[in-house]
Amino acid sequence: MLKSDVIVIGGGFAGLMAAAVSAKRGKKVTLLTYGSGSFPLNSGLIDIMAKPVSGAIAATPLQGISELTEKHPYQVIGADVLKEAVAFFMGLCEEENYPYQGSLDKHQWVVTALGTMKPSCLVPKTMIGNYCFKQQDIVLVGFNGLKDHYSNVMEENLKNVLENGKNYEQVIIYPDIEEGRDLTALDIARWVSTTEGYAACLQQLRTVVKPGSVVILPQVLGVKPDYAVWEQLRKDLQCDVMESTGLPPSANGLRLRSLLLHYLKKHNVTIIENCQVIGSHIQDKVCISVKAKAVARERIYQAEQFILATGGFYGGGLRMDHFPEIKEPIFNIPVHFAGDPEDWANEELFSQQKQPFALVGINTDAQMHPLDGQGNCFLTNVHVVGRNLSGYDFCFEQSGNGVALVSAYQAAMSV
Ligand SMILES: Cc1cc2nc3c(=O)[nH]c(=O)nc-3n(C[C@H](O)[C@H](O)[C@H](O)COP(=O)(O)OP(=O)(O)OC[C@H]3O[C@@H](n4cnc5c(N)ncnc54)[C@H](O)[C@@H]3O)c2cc1C
Repeated sequence: MLKSDVIVIGGGFAGLMAAAVSAKRGKKVTLLTYGSGSFPLNSGLIDIMAKPVSGAIAATPLQGISELTEKHPYQVIGADVLKEAVAFFMGLCEEENYPYQGSLDKHQWVVTALGTMKPSCLVPKTMIGNYCFKQQDIVLVGFNGLKDHYSNVMEENLKNVLENGKNYEQVIIYPDIEEGRDLTALDIARWVSTTEGYAACLQQLRTVVKPGSVVILPQVLGVKPDYAVWEQLRKDLQCDVMESTGLPPSANGLRLRSLLLHYLKKHNVTIIENCQVIGSHIQDKVCISVKAKAVARERIYQAEQFILATGGFYGGGLRMDHFPEIKEPIFNIPVHFAGDPEDWANEELFSQQKQPFALVGINTDAQMHPLDGQGNCFLTNVHVVGRNLSGYDFCFEQSGNGVALVSAYQAAMSV
């Protein structure tokens, strides 16, 4: 039986980053996963910390982190590791010729699908929205047949958040794609990636767009993790060009996934997809192996160390078959929940407080080992990362991929 140094379970952002850091350190890594995680949902933005406590936006991501309670994963891990993790990610993207922009010292502003401005931290260059504050002429681009993209709503909201006196223009592009069904941004991104599609799109844009404008599109500037389409369009239009966030499937999330998978293959990570881990063999607080179910058969995988990146409730890493019993199904790790489960949701979904249900998860020590109810190490060679962790509300704080990145980095540096 093949034995790895490290087995990573889960192929979302936390799992791919844990595998990347472990492999870069020279470990023999196997990644077991049965899905692409939340990449198709999350615009490829690495939000680190916007709203640490109340609904107020912190001065900088780093300042926001300093305001968190000691139970938050960032505080458990520490600010020095956080800076190292950010540097690792930025270096990886640079090495893959798809550099991200941003730092812990400044928010990067991104235009949302509704035309609000959202603070993020590490951002693909196609999504940098800061130009909106500077330029006078703003062009909002829609595509005929694109589902749930409303340029008029975007314009109304941008007028509220940007200073007065800007000029707005809307343009609808007619993509030459087979009719008869709604289009997604990914369909259009594929069309724009072709020579004919790009030329047709450019020709239609030129009828409206003046040089020196800001041109805001949905996520349609290509499917690969490179900036070729974005750079060409900026050059051809002589404009600042940017993508907004949007509904799934997110081309930007999928570009980030492709980039990371390319990096893992380059570093000889064994990737086993469509593979669901269904149990583990534990002896004296040490995991010896995990059992996984693939298409045709079950198989045992052995390793020295295991990183659990199965994505909490959303990813399938935590389950509640009977209220209020929450289960971690692979290692049976205790799941932490403070307070009365009957009170675990605020009535207001978008309230000025974190949602108690979002804080549910696994408690860990600083090396990401899971803890039992008494705060003792539950398994000595298992590390827990990403959305499985307790103590943070990614949606409220805007910290989802940030916690995934930092916890994955710390776990991989600890194995
Ligand atoms: C709609 C939406 C929008 C978001 N937008 C943003 C954003 O703009 N910026 C941001 O920073 N964050 C955003 N987030 C949050 C962010 O996507 C997540 O917090 C983060 O990516 C979690 O990563 P993860 O790897 O822990 O989990 P996931 O991405 O859920 O990955 C878990 C993986 O584990 C696999 N898995 C589960 N169980 C098993 C098993 N038994 N065996 C094998 N594999 C298993 C799953 O199939 C999946 O591949 C958003 C989230 C959502 C839902």
